Amino acid sequence: MNKYFVPDVTVNSIEDLSGEFFRERGIKAVFLDIDNTLVTPKTRKPDDRARRFLNSLKESEISVCLVSNNKKERVDEFNDGGYLSIHRAGKPFTYSYRRMLKSLGISKKEAAAVGDQFYSDIYAGRRLGVLTVYVKPIEIGNEGPFVYLKRQLEKKIIAKLGL
Ligand SMILES: [Mg+2]
Repeated sequence: MNKYFVPDVTVNSIEDLSGEFFRERGIKAVFLDIDNTLVTPKTRKPDDRARRFLNSLKESEISVCLVSNNKKERVDEFNDGGYLSIHRAGKPFTYSYRRMLKSLGISKKEAAAVGDQFYSDIYAGRRLGVLTVYVKPIEIGNEGPFVYLKRQLEKKIIAKLGL
């Protein structure tokens, strides 16, 4: 098993996470994927669940950076809370994360990456060397051909990790 595909933490949903969870691990900034991590790909704005999570991070004074491979319109419409954000992030490449860490002035040990895809969120986070949190996707399907392909590839990882 390639270690870059093994997340540090696995949760069923963002409801299993909180500001406290990150704070007690020394985390100051969290990179959050949007689609199928915070909300379904069709949900344009944060729903109650996503807002609760985002508010909990804010209360713990943890910087939030939305990091999505999706287009600017998607990210901007979702981001009505004025969070830091990166669209067309180029995950699994790590350049956009590294740039953000630098501008926040924090080390990789103080950051976490949260997402639902092994071939983008987890692989990027592991290569970057931050705490990685795999969130099981909210709903699979209607994600487009490229994500569909990645979902097929993910099946092996999911089976190996026993998730
Ligand atoms: Mg996603």
